Amino acid sequence: MSQDASTLLLAHHLKALKLPTFLRDYTSVAATCSQERSSYPQYLLHLAERELIDRERRATERRIREAAFPVLKTIETFDFTAQLSINEPLVRELLRGEYMAKRENVLLVGNPGTGKTHLATALGFAACTQGKRVRFLTTTGLVTQLLEARDSRTLQRLHKQLERLDLLLLDELGYVPFSKAGAELLFEVVSRAYERTSLLVTTNLPFAQWTEVLGSERLTGALLDRLTHRVHILEANGQSYRLQDAKGRLKRK
Ligand code: ADP
Ligand code: MG
Repeated sequence: MSQDASTLLLAHHLKALKLPTFLRDYTSVAATCSQERSSYPQYLLHLAERELIDRERRATERRIREAAFPVLKTIETFDFTAQLSINEPLVRELLRGEYMAKRENVLLVGNPGTGKTHLATALGFAACTQGKRVRFLTTTGLVTQLLEARDSRTLQRLHKQLERLDLLLLDELGYVPFSKAGAELLFEVVSRAYERTSLLVTTNLPFAQWTEVLGSERLTGALLDRLTHRVHILEANGQSYRLQDAKGRLKRK
């Protein structure tokens, strides 16, 4: 076979085997390997390592896309000195992600602007890099989806999708009260996630006021029971970061 034909065929096979990094790099790696007098297995090892690293990176990128974070925020840009009420060691522990293996939940409670969504996103992002399947939804967004799915008879499919997750982030429980049907559907999600999927819920509401959003006292009790059975609670009761930021800007003027 001519050189050209084998190059073409190799490209075809590497594509069919889904080894894009092999295809992209085999010539350049061959050049370095021949300079360094590497053996054939060493050459293959170099290529295999590159393929693995790239594959892992692409998978992480896909998980981040699928998580659908509203804005991508990480812990690097979170200023703990601006929100002293937050238990930093606990945040650092949660960033390691062991709570997901134990199907434990996280509750982030605090006033508006205290960084709850930022922290939730940072924890979700860390989970994506650890190979976990994550989805970010506002609580009202989820309830709307559930109601729509019920009406179009696709509720089971939606539940199945949610059950495949390792971490479901539910942002902003408590800003808008739910209808009776909405609260019941939300309860079903929490109930099915119990000991299967970790939930991370952010809220501005102390527990005593959850009934106001969920309607029924019995349902609230049952939901809190499941959510808080194994839970890490992070409280942020400082000032709004937005407010501090705005005040700082005004002072500097
Ligand atoms: P919440 O969800 O509690 O209302 P957010 O997480 O949306 O608050 O925070 C509001 C804005 O302030 C966001 O842009 C967020 O990135 C930023 N922010 C809040 N707290 C901090 C902090 N401690 N360090 C850096 N940025 C912060
Ligand atoms: Mg928020």
